[in-house]
Amino acid sequence: MVTAVDGASFSVPRGKTVCVVGESGCGKSVTGRSILRIVDAPGRVVGGSILWDRDGTGDPVDLATLDPGGPDIRKIRGDEIAMVFQEPMTSLSPVHTIGSQIAESVRLHTDLDDDAVRGRVIEVLGQVGMPRPESRYDAYTFQLSGGMRQRAMIAMALVCHPRLLIADEPTTALDVTTQAQILRLMVQLQAEMDMSVLFITHDMGVVAQIADEVVVMYLGTVVETGPTEQIFTDPRHPYTRALLQAIPRFGQRRAGRALSIIPGSVPDPYRRPGGCPFHPRCAQARPGTCDVVEPATVTVAERRDVRCVLAAEEVHS
Ligand code: SF4
Ligand code: MG
Repeated sequence: MVTAVDGASFSVPRGKTVCVVGESGCGKSVTGRSILRIVDAPGRVVGGSILWDRDGTGDPVDLATLDPGGPDIRKIRGDEIAMVFQEPMTSLSPVHTIGSQIAESVRLHTDLDDDAVRGRVIEVLGQVGMPRPESRYDAYTFQLSGGMRQRAMIAMALVCHPRLLIADEPTTALDVTTQAQILRLMVQLQAEMDMSVLFITHDMGVVAQIADEVVVMYLGTVVETGPTEQIFTDPRHPYTRALLQAIPRFGQRRAGRALSIIPGSVPDPYRRPGGCPFHPRCAQARPGTCDVVEPATVTVAERRDVRCVLAAEEVHS
């Protein structure tokens, strides 16, 4: 059995944007999907808990204990927690109009009549910046550009006013200009709707633009968490530092990630290295320690956890 995500521990505060960042294959998407219990077969949530404070009373329900196909999770999915993906066609059907698909989601979670449903759909299409929303109601996905499809998918996710939006690389496939527009839109909607956002990305540049807090993952483990400013000005984990050094500087060409300076690539999860999983690529790894002992997570400050022996020594010295 492969454990893609092991000991991932973090929380998303109300009304905040938390970015989960790491290279591809580090378990970010699995973490997002396991919250809504939609991990692709043969994966499944085997342990741990996913606590969802439904009504803000501090009496959370553990989503990990719910039947993934059962009525409880279906009630939460879409209504309380919604998700958007990199590829809009994951959520949008090619054979139904945009409006009818979003309307379906409204009908599922409210008992508005047909006119009110239509009005609500047009309203949300306008909110996400769809030009001429009335006429887009009857458009099919093939009639829309990539950026418009992404807006339609965000509209579908937001139409029921979820309290948590999970966004998995929603701008990665878009050109730079459209990406910037969609990011601005998400920041604006998040503030307007007082929504919490869990934003999954491999791009530290995106993190800098939208995150309140950052969760850095490596090989299915959370290696560092902290407020965005602290992560950028005082990164404590060698992997976080390497990710920051790999951000293309202004004026450098973004030539296919060739600027990345982290040596090696994320290992196959079937061959997870012993000790600290980052040790084969870590410039500060200590032979005899880092390749043998898996570091514990230490809390270095409020809402700041680091999983590295160096951080542990600083705290204890
Ligand atoms: Fe590097 Fe060792 Fe820290 Fe792992 S525990 S990140 S190998 S210094
Ligand atoms: Mg992914």
